[in-house]
Amino acid sequence: MKKILIAISFMVIFLPSCSKSTKTKLVVYLVSDQLTPDIFNKYDSLFTGGFRWLIDNGIRYTNVHHNHANTSTGPGHFALSTGVHPGNGGIIDNEWYDRELKRIYYVVEDTIAKNFSGKDSGRSYRNIKNTSLADWMKENNHKSKVVSLSGKDRSAVLMGGKDPDLALWYDKAGGYTTSDYYFPALPLWIKNFNNNLNVSSYKDSVWTRLKDDHIYAKYARSDDFLGEKIFSKNKKSKAILPFAFRDMSTSSLLRGFYEFPQGDRSLINLAMDAVDRMDLGKDNAPDLLFLGLSATDGVGHHYGPNSVEQLDNYLRLDKNLMHLIDFIDSEIGLDNALFVLSSDHGVMVLPEYLISQKIASGRVNLTYKREVYSDIIRKINLKIGPGKIIDSDNNFYFSRGLSKEESAIATKIIKEMVVSIEGIERALHIDDIVNLPANEENNRLKNMVDRLKSPDVYVLLKKNWIWKSVYGSSHGTHHSYDSHVPLIISRNKSKNKLVDLKAYTVDAPVTIAEILDIDYPKSVDGKPLEVNFIYK
Ligand SMILES: [Zn+2]
Repeated sequence: MKKILIAISFMVIFLPSCSKSTKTKLVVYLVSDQLTPDIFNKYDSLFTGGFRWLIDNGIRYTNVHHNHANTSTGPGHFALSTGVHPGNGGIIDNEWYDRELKRIYYVVEDTIAKNFSGKDSGRSYRNIKNTSLADWMKENNHKSKVVSLSGKDRSAVLMGGKDPDLALWYDKAGGYTTSDYYFPALPLWIKNFNNNLNVSSYKDSVWTRLKDDHIYAKYARSDDFLGEKIFSKNKKSKAILPFAFRDMSTSSLLRGFYEFPQGDRSLINLAMDAVDRMDLGKDNAPDLLFLGLSATDGVGHHYGPNSVEQLDNYLRLDKNLMHLIDFIDSEIGLDNALFVLSSDHGVMVLPEYLISQKIASGRVNLTYKREVYSDIIRKINLKIGPGKIIDSDNNFYFSRGLSKEESAIATKIIKEMVVSIEGIERALHIDDIVNLPANEENNRLKNMVDRLKSPDVYVLLKKNWIWKSVYGSSHGTHHSYDSHVPLIISRNKSKNKLVDLKAYTVDAPVTIAEILDIDYPKSVDGKPLEVNFIYK
């Protein structure tokens, strides 16, 4: 590779080293949804499996953030896959209002393609403009194979790139699926996998605590905490482990299976089958196995971080990841594999827990919010005429062709009125955002904006406030708890190392490309990180 490499983080410059490895036969790229970096300090002594192996054999970057403010699954995976800020790639959220289509547009929708199962419309990479790490690998060597698997379609699609050999996601109906963009039909071995998975049979099973009670008493907040989701309709039920799946309706279980640790375990089993079936890591052309582990997000949304449930989920993931690592050792040999672990976004701590710790926090009152938004639209309609502004997903979209004066009137009304809603920090027009002085938070805001697609006015939450009104936690803001994620790059027998230099998730795919010694577009936003340690 002839590129001049500029490591970010205060312009540390390094030159390509002769120690560059060309022996990687398999890259295992793990993205655990809503995985927060603090767990590697808090629960360090509890991790004895896959997390332990990744830490002990790798470099752990402790100061990595998503450098965008739309901190949700679509934009996060896009950054980790393409090295491009979501605003620059037009990936402004998981979904958004499309002014031309006059409807909500889903980030990986494809109206031409059809999924083989489930109720969702077609999914694919067809409408994504930027190339991904997966594409760079295949362009570099046509024998390189790409397998992208996740509980979520947007995660599997965005990481798989334009032409993966396999992209599968959970269909929210009891099995893993793909679309006819990728295959003419669902391969038989996947049908068999789904039959054996038999998600409905989980109705008879119970999610128990993996470790003794004293571990949870020491490391998690008390179980059955106010603000946690209760699935059972029985009024006496509590949000605690053990959790009996019979407390969910069959349709909720089929829909939400991927949001439980059992879902991630099935995904890891699927990954091991895929390594075998697709002969990953068997020749000198490096292959990519991407795994989008979605249960961390589901459990976090239901119970919040620091919960007994999320701790137990991490412990189970730690154990299951070790199965995967052991399997890769037996199939390929660990010396031939490179592992990367990161996350698509962070999360806010449960508001009820923050309040119990005397920290100002809360949930937006959605009934009041709806009233204020209706008043805003009514007032704007009176001033500039009806039908020119709509609100969608808390933000405001203006019709194209609004005069500067009309736009200024509407913006002023929104800015003045939204701050009456408790929990709202301020509203910003995208012109305000692009002109903000550069700093960490402002840069995140700037990097989420696409001038053609973005809402005209974004409504921003105060720190430690969420839109989620009833239970659980969420993410999606410009605040650091949503942007701060882990990044661990590991290779067998590497010295473990902590690095606290500032880095960004867009740097991850570019760094992997550098390790593999393959080309990537010069236009990407990411910069390669220094990883020479990895070969020691
Ligand atoms: Zn989420």
